[in-house]
Amino acid sequence: MIVDYHTHTSLCKHATGTPEDYVLRALELGFDEIGMSEHIPMPDSFDERHRMSIEEYYQRYAPSVVEVSERYKKRIQVRRGIEADFFDGTQEWVREFIKENDFDFVIGSVHFLGSWGVDDPTFVHRYEEADVDRIYEEYFHTVERAVRTGLFDIVGHYDLVKKFGYRPTRNMDELIREVIGEIKKNDLCLEINTSGLRKPVQEMYPSEFILSLARDVRLPLTLGSDAHAPEDVGKDFPLAVEMIERYGSGKISLFEKRERREVDVTKTSD
Ligand code: ZN
Ligand code: FE
Ligand code: FE
Repeated sequence: MIVDYHTHTSLCKHATGTPEDYVLRALELGFDEIGMSEHIPMPDSFDERHRMSIEEYYQRYAPSVVEVSERYKKRIQVRRGIEADFFDGTQEWVREFIKENDFDFVIGSVHFLGSWGVDDPTFVHRYEEADVDRIYEEYFHTVERAVRTGLFDIVGHYDLVKKFGYRPTRNMDELIREVIGEIKKNDLCLEINTSGLRKPVQEMYPSEFILSLARDVRLPLTLGSDAHAPEDVGKDFPLAVEMIERYGSGKISLFEKRERREVDVTKTSD
């Protein structure tokens, strides 16, 4: 089986394509499943530049995902997911939103430290001005807190903080190991996200070192391109599949109605 569980659409204002465009690309690639995981809508204009509104979610996005999954169900399984932010003060709202929607999986992602979007190119200067070690520590600690909420199934781009290539000088191994242990304890799955290869850091999320720690505790793994354009579906998956073979015993996690099961991963040519 081969799946791509991390995709966006034009509704988030920084991606292109409709759910159908992504499904068609996944079909072209011969994928077994595709997961639609648009950025979660949030109340009170929280980061509204990068997401659809709550109305757009209910009136356009959710119905269109249901519609394509019906239309293509004989050829591909379309999974209903969401990329949910972990952000202090919004947990209860996110919990309710997840409860009232019938998701197959929920990706938990940390994009913000306080009001700063760590992956936002507009504010990349922050890495020059602040202590990069402290940024990394805060980022991993925030991922750890996200994992403990019990809200999510999948840890999205575990080390997103490396996106622009700024690296810590202090050794972070112990902290990384601690967070990996927390992921295990809370029975979450770790995403191999290939989008980092298309970013200044030119590396997958997470790094091979982090994957080796994940292997030590037998963390389940899944796969996502974080496509923001239909042509990015399944991007760099041959390399990602190699990682699954090396660090996940060749098993990939699938989700249906938030139940996880592991199956053998298959190779993909694109
Ligand atoms: Zn995005
Ligand atoms: Fe993200
Ligand atoms: Fe994403």
